[in-house]
Amino acid sequence: MRLVSYSSEDGARLAAVREDGYVDLNRADPNLPAAVKEFLAGGPTMLTEAQRAVAKGESISPDGVALLPPVPDPQKIICVGLNYEDHAKESGAEVGDEPVIFNKFPTALRAHGDPIRLPAVGANVDYEAELVAVIGVGGKNIPRQAALDHVAGYACGHDVSARDWQQGKPGGQWLLGKSFDSFAPLGPELVTADEVGDPLSLGIQLRLNGQVMQDSNTSQLIFSVEFLVSYISQVCNLLPGDLIFTGTPPGVGAARQPPVFLQKGDVVEVEIERIGVLRNTVEMEG
Ligand code: ZN
Repeated sequence: MRLVSYSSEDGARLAAVREDGYVDLNRADPNLPAAVKEFLAGGPTMLTEAQRAVAKGESISPDGVALLPPVPDPQKIICVGLNYEDHAKESGAEVGDEPVIFNKFPTALRAHGDPIRLPAVGANVDYEAELVAVIGVGGKNIPRQAALDHVAGYACGHDVSARDWQQGKPGGQWLLGKSFDSFAPLGPELVTADEVGDPLSLGIQLRLNGQVMQDSNTSQLIFSVEFLVSYISQVCNLLPGDLIFTGTPPGVGAARQPPVFLQKGDVVEVEIERIGVLRNTVEMEG
C-alpha cells in the first residue's frame, strides 16, 4: 500500500493512494486511526484492515490536497553517514566496522513540493538522495533477524546538508549542518514494505535541474537496513514513525571539481525504484 499524510482542518490525516485518488483511511473505516504513527504501531494486522477499507472507501481528488511528509511528526530522525563505499571514498573518509550515526531535528521535515530554503548563514548547501526506512512496531534491542519486521515501509528522503556547518564546527559535529528548517524533504509517499520487497535492490538517483548527479543502487549500502535497525535499537527505543535516513551514494556536490552547491531556483528530484520521485525547489530563506 502507498500512504500519504495530508493537511485538513482537523490536522494531519492519513490516506492511501488508489488509482482514482486518495482514500482517507479513518473516513473509510472509523476504527482505523486518522494519524500515521498510530497506524504504523498496529503492524501487519492494521495493514490488512486498511486494505479492506481502501477497497470500499470514497476517493478524494489529489488536486487541491496539501501533502505533508508521509510521517509529519516522527519522534526521531536518525541518519547514517558514509554508508556507500564510493561516497566514503569521495569524502576522504575511512569505512569502519560500525556506522557513523547522527540525527536531524523533525522541524527540518518538508513534504514533496515544499521549498528547500537556503539559510542566509550557510553558504555551501549540498544535496543527498537517501532511502528512508520508516519504523512500524517499535522495539529495543531488536535482533538482526527480526529487524525488518519493525520496518513498516520506505520513502524517498533528501538529506540536505550545509557543508560549512557540517564540517566547520567545534568537535566535528554534524547536527546543525543537517538540521536547518527544510533540510529533510520526505515523500511523496510511504510505500509499505510488502510492496517494496528487498530494500537492498533499489535504483536510487538524484537529478539537479534534470541532470543526473547521483546514480546508484541500494545494493551498494555498507550497513544494511536490518543491521541499522538492530544496531540503533541497542541504544534507544525505536518508536512507530521514527525515520532512518540510510545514507547517500556518490556524486554529492561538495566532492565535485569544481564543487556544486544548491542555488535559488534549482529543482531537485530524488527517485528510488518502486518508491517514487520526491521533487523540491530551492529558494532563499526569508
Ligand atoms: Zn546523508
